[in-house]
Amino acid sequence: MTKKLNGAIILIVAVTLLAVIVGVVGGMRGGGDIDRFAPDNFAELRQPHGLDATTAHGQVSVEHIRHMSDYLYNRFPFSYKEMFAAEWIVEELLAMGYTWEHIEVQEFAFADVDFFPVPMHGASEIPDSVLMDSMALMMPIYFLLDETPFVNFNTRASRQSQNVILTIPGQSENTIIVGAHYDSVLYPGASDNASGTALLLESAQRMKTIDNYYTIVYVFFGAEEAGLIGVTYYVNSLTEQDHDNLLFMLNADVLLEGPDLFYMGGYYRDGQSGSNHITETWDEVARDVNAQLDVNLMPWPEGVFGPSDQLAFLPHGHTAMFMIGLDALQYWHDGATLEYMLGMARVLHSPRDDFHYINENWPGKMEQNMMVFSVFLEELLLAEYAVHTN
Ligand SMILES: [Zn+2]
Repeated sequence: MTKKLNGAIILIVAVTLLAVIVGVVGGMRGGGDIDRFAPDNFAELRQPHGLDATTAHGQVSVEHIRHMSDYLYNRFPFSYKEMFAAEWIVEELLAMGYTWEHIEVQEFAFADVDFFPVPMHGASEIPDSVLMDSMALMMPIYFLLDETPFVNFNTRASRQSQNVILTIPGQSENTIIVGAHYDSVLYPGASDNASGTALLLESAQRMKTIDNYYTIVYVFFGAEEAGLIGVTYYVNSLTEQDHDNLLFMLNADVLLEGPDLFYMGGYYRDGQSGSNHITETWDEVARDVNAQLDVNLMPWPEGVFGPSDQLAFLPHGHTAMFMIGLDALQYWHDGATLEYMLGMARVLHSPRDDFHYINENWPGKMEQNMMVFSVFLEELLLAEYAVHTN
């Protein structure tokens, strides 16, 4: 009896030890985390948002913003909350009917990208001073991220983050990259940047029913707020062929700061934002959308050097656009810079960057901004562009 019991205890201990060893080794494979993005973890599909040709542009985006603000707030770079947001994005894409054939989760660790990643990588001809102005806005967050024992950002032990990538092949190999970062600072991040994330999700869902000539690559970037780390990792992962195929990059960030809607498009030329056939086509599209919707999308070419993900594409000679919604016109003066405007921002990087705060203080603005940017993005994706040369 006793012997039998001892045997049973030894067996239980042995099985437990084995389970612990398997668990630890299994965990180590994922750099300290379990394999969160294994396709099997996403076997259960949710219902997609109902969306057809008659659904008003922006409507689905607003629902996505509400969800991220209420349930996925504080998506700090390299945190568990950021990871949950990435999982949710994957779930949404699967619910729309996209498959793992076209979805990729690109995981990376904090240590994979250097400090001030943009100026330090690639054959950059952009003076560091131009980039430093932009990056300076991000510095305080960067320093808070690492090795600050008295602040708990829910950082993952593995210090991992991830980009979620959806590729929709077109007839042409020429590619349009559409990007938005889904991480945030410590707040709900409704405008910065659930708004851009939601815009991409709505666009991806709409493109399910529309033929695209160009190949479209949606990239939901992680770890933007820590210094453009996700996008830098992504750009470094592109092959020469990828760079050759890239027609341009569109970035959506901070779409709800105010009612003044800007598109900041260009590429780096002699210390300034250059124009080319692509930016001219963008201007035409904007004029069309403005006439069609009776709105006022405004060009602001210098803003392409603003502190967001499009910045990482400029040192490679690419043409890029930064879409943003600011409360700018009331503060406008000659020589006003984007950095100055961002300094005047009322909700950016504050607890006010919340779905409900924005809705209560500016009723209807969210619907309006998301509607205009959704139409604009779709027209940009479907426009015809001449041969890819600067
Ligand atoms: Zn942002």
